[in-house]
Parts: sequence; structure tokens; C-alpha cells
Amino acid sequence: MLNKKTVDDINVKGQKVLCRCDFNVPLKEGKITDETRLVAALPTIKKLVADGGQVILCSHLGKPKGEPKPELSLAPVAVRLSELLGQEVKFAADATVVGENAKAAVAAMNDGDIVLLENTRYRAEETKNGEAFSKELASLAEVFVNDAFGTAHRAHCSTVGVTDYIKTSAVGYLMQKEIDFLGNAVNNPNRPFVAILGGSKVSSKISVIENLLEKVDTLIIGGGMAYTFQKSQGKNVGKSLVEDDYVDYAAKMLKKAEEKGVKMLIPVDDVVVKEFNNDAPSRVCEGGMADDEMGVDIGPKTAALYAEALKDAKTVVWNGPMGVFEMPNFAKGTVEVAKVLADLDATTIIGGGDSAAAVNQLGFGDKMSHISTGGGASMEFLEGKELPGVAAINDK
Ligand code: AMP
Repeated sequence: MLNKKTVDDINVKGQKVLCRCDFNVPLKEGKITDETRLVAALPTIKKLVADGGQVILCSHLGKPKGEPKPELSLAPVAVRLSELLGQEVKFAADATVVGENAKAAVAAMNDGDIVLLENTRYRAEETKNGEAFSKELASLAEVFVNDAFGTAHRAHCSTVGVTDYIKTSAVGYLMQKEIDFLGNAVNNPNRPFVAILGGSKVSSKISVIENLLEKVDTLIIGGGMAYTFQKSQGKNVGKSLVEDDYVDYAAKMLKKAEEKGVKMLIPVDDVVVKEFNNDAPSRVCEGGMADDEMGVDIGPKTAALYAEALKDAKTVVWNGPMGVFEMPNFAKGTVEVAKVLADLDATTIIGGGDSAAAVNQLGFGDKMSHISTGGGASMEFLEGKELPGVAAINDK
């Protein structure tokens, strides 16, 4: 259980509350194309408003790299949040984030009002956790709430620095929920506990593999990273995505799993093509691939093997697609795994990023126990690391 103060433990009546959210939503021509993160932030905002706080919201959006970029303004977020909340969210347009406009908007607030500041990454110091900007942010409020799980793995002014200058800090409901789900899964799982790792690279998931090998009963490997494992077992993987520097490491992990009694599964068949495009002729390959072939998805035998390994699971954590799911012809393995998870009587947790996109895109979103709003943050959590944005918050 999270041992940090939450919004249920603080009194915000009549107080200015700076609430860091993760409004880093995809935008296309000024329109928000996926508002999952806005919806996820609503319970905390509503709670602070209901308790009579004067709520100052802040977030980053994209990577403006320390400069005001109109296409990365949070203005459209203020409009949509106003609609979702049914009350005005006043946008403090301010190129310096905490400039005269923001200060004036904050000074004019009454209890229950909401102001949204401009993109925190308009300021170069934000990502460097600089003192001056941290102090400026802190000067606006008496209480700090961090509900931005998606940025909790970053020590920035608006997630960490600001807590040096505001005495009272707490996590919001989203942060609490994310950490409860991930924390319970990793540290106190109902067993069998199965983790599924896919995606492109072994190198980016080394720490996750090592940490999870200590915790899980079964570790399932798919996606591009599987070929490095297959190669380590002497299989010809043709021109598949392979990280040659990690072949020995992959062999070591398979051996370690065996020694620990963890079932570690890698694909027994693959969907292979000669060209990397959706319409390329494909075949299912069980033995070694030809030199000019590459794997783009797990094969049907592997999908069945993984379904079998998952059928009694009581806790499942999934990060990374089983194949190149963006190409419909190679999404089958990912779809099969998503279907199995959707029907399980288990806690199913999707670790953000591509896997969350895949599950939502395939229409299985509401069948999962929890879909994390933070890909990077959930990965670092699964690596066993403490998230700086959480560590900085007052203990209970
Ligand atoms: P990651 O960001 O590491 O989770 O990787 C996700 C990406 O891995 C997606 O864009 C997939 O298209 C890609 N991917 C999955 N399987 C393969 C594969 N067999 N070959 C190349 N890329 C893959």
C-alpha cells in the first residue's frame, strides 16, 4: 500500500492547490485525439473543487524544448476540461507559465475555481528541475498535489522541485490507483503471476526482465525482442530485429529462469515475411528462418502455447505488443493475447504505451482491470525503481 499522503488526507478549503496532472494528450490540428488522460484526471480535480480548494492545474504537453510553441499550448485542454467538468477552467495564457497573466488569474480565484497554467515545458528549467522555476510554481499555492503518474518517473520542477518549497503535498487519486495496481501486482500478487513482455528491444527491458524474474511464476516473451532470445537458442532468425550485443544476455536470462523455477516462454513459431510491409506475402515458420526472412508476429502455435500458460493466471502484467500490431496483417498474435486476457478471471494490468494503445485500438480496454496512463513510469515501476515524483510527496 502506498504510504504517501493522498487528497483524502489534506484540507484544501480556501487554499490554493497546485495540482500537477498529466495532460500530455495527442493533438492533431489543435484537436485532442485521445482524451484518456483528461478523463483519468477528473476524479482528483472534482475532489479538490468539492472540498473548496482553489485549483491551479499544470502539466507539460509534448516537447517544446523550453520555448513557447503555439501548437503545444494547453489551451485546447482547458476548453475540453471545461466541458468534461461542467465548469469553467480558466486558461492562463502565459509564455513564461508563471507570468503576469497567470499571477492575475490565480489572484482572482474563489473557492472551487479552476485555472490551468500554460505548458510547463515552455520553460527550459522544467526538465532540469531548476530552482527558480520550482520556486515560481510553488509561490502560487499552499498545497501541492501530484496526480501525473505518466511523468512520475521524471524529477522535474513541476513534479519534484516544487515540493521543496511547498510544505503540504499529496498524491491524487490517479497516482494512488496506478501505484496500488502496479504495486500489488508486483509485490503482493495473487498467483499464478504471469508477465508478458513484448515490443521491439531487449535492451530497453533488461531491468524489467531481471526484476520480474524475481517475482513471477511465468514470463512470456513476444514481439521483436523474442528473436534475440531465439537466436540465443541457436535458431536462425534471418534478418529479424536482433540485438547481437544481447544474445548472450538472453541465454543467461533463460538459464536463470530455469534455475529459479520460473517458466520463461519464447515463441515456437513466427509469422515471417521478406519485406517489412503489411501486404508482403507471409508464412508461418516453425524451424529456422531463411536468411532473407524476418519475423513480424508470433505464430499460431505460440499464441496457443501462451493462451495455455495464461489460462489459470490470477495476476497478469503486460507490456509490449507481440508483433508489428500497427500493420493489421501482423496484429493477430497481439489480438489473441488481448482476447485471452479479456476473458480471464484475474487482475489484468496493461503497462501503458504501445500495449495500452493496442488493447484500446482492439476494443478490449474495458475488459482489463487496469490500463496504466504512463508507459515509461509503469516500466520504471516494474523495474523496481522508486518514482521520484512519488518519493517527493509527504509520507502519511
Ligand atoms: P516498445 O516501444 O519497445 O514497446 O516496442 C513497440 C514496437 O515494437 C511497436 O511499434 C511494434 O511494431 C514493434 N514490434 C513488435 N514486434 C516486432 C517485430 N517482430 N519486428 C519489429 N518490430 C516489432
